[in-house]
Amino acid sequence: MVSTLDSSLTTPSSSRPLLGMSQTELTDWVQGQGQPAYRGKQLHQWLYNKGARTLADITVFPKDWRQAMEQVSVGRSDIHHRSIAPDQTVKFLLRLEDGHIIEAVGIPTDKRLTVCVSSQVGCPMACDFCATGKGGFIRNLATHEIVDQVLTVQEAFEQRVSNIVFMGMGEPLINAHNVVNAVKCLNQDIGIGQRSITVSTVGIPGQIRRLAEHHLQITLAVSLHASNQSLRTELIPSAQQYPLTALLDECREYVTITGRRVTFEYILLAGLNDCEEHAAELSQLLRGFQSHVNLIPYNPIDEVDYQRPSRKRVNQFTDRLKASGIAVSVRYSRGLEKDAACGQLRASKIGN
Ligand code: SAH
Repeated sequence: MVSTLDSSLTTPSSSRPLLGMSQTELTDWVQGQGQPAYRGKQLHQWLYNKGARTLADITVFPKDWRQAMEQVSVGRSDIHHRSIAPDQTVKFLLRLEDGHIIEAVGIPTDKRLTVCVSSQVGCPMACDFCATGKGGFIRNLATHEIVDQVLTVQEAFEQRVSNIVFMGMGEPLINAHNVVNAVKCLNQDIGIGQRSITVSTVGIPGQIRRLAEHHLQITLAVSLHASNQSLRTELIPSAQQYPLTALLDECREYVTITGRRVTFEYILLAGLNDCEEHAAELSQLLRGFQSHVNLIPYNPIDEVDYQRPSRKRVNQFTDRLKASGIAVSVRYSRGLEKDAACGQLRASKIGN
């Protein structure tokens, strides 16, 4: 940071937005602007607790300095649109500084408020069952663009966010640097427990190990979706470069390094991967693995004609896994009516 004492005339020395900075970094920044150190703490509080969208909003700051700093980018995105599903799930379309639109979803349950955040504009993985992938990939999100999604939901619900899932648009482990920084900020600056944060990945070779080396206490969810390599490759093109055995080996390393259990997500597609033989194969694959299986009955999207299995079928699959001693739960996605459920988020679509 460039340091100057002439506070009234300075312009920011870097265009890095303030959101995403720690209290120490914010203190360095205010001091670089010729302000006393305690203003760093105030700035931190206003950014992360009081919803400041510009420095002009921060009424405890001297008026002339506020005005001089009006152009400094805090890094908040505008709400372009919001829609509420009958189950009270709220989908937000957020407009980024460069005009791209991303989606974030607020999911209230009892005392909890979960935010499903996006990590990219679009997604390059092109999984066949996912709406985001159908729209292609535009760019990674910056740290502040991830943190902003959580603040936006928290402010709109007027309730503290309790859980975060990186299950919106994008593949978090292609944007691991910014995702890890966002996780640290959400934890340290907004106060969300690492154990209440889940990062979901389809698996990128080498990246699960690299994530483990950050020693975060977050939950890693891996999108498995198939009980063997050939079926997985049919559904997930990128699996061609990443054999199931290599993916599972990396997941085992994750458990060893972090001491955290891994969740395996498994979409249930009627007639395709939801038969008795698949349940048996999956049980075999995960035998002895310290893991949890999360079954996700398929949420329909326009472009493909996969079917969601009946409840009976879902229960049969669940029971079969349980009988093999596998910890399993079923996720009936929220927000289906507003295209806000898993796999239904897309960059270009404007909600209603
Ligand atoms: N790229 C990350 C995050 C994707 S969204 C990943 O692949 O894990 C989170 C979960 O929703 C993933 O498990 C994803 O495979 C799943 N999903 C995608 N499309 C879906 C659909 N149409 N129905 C149900 N789940 C879907």
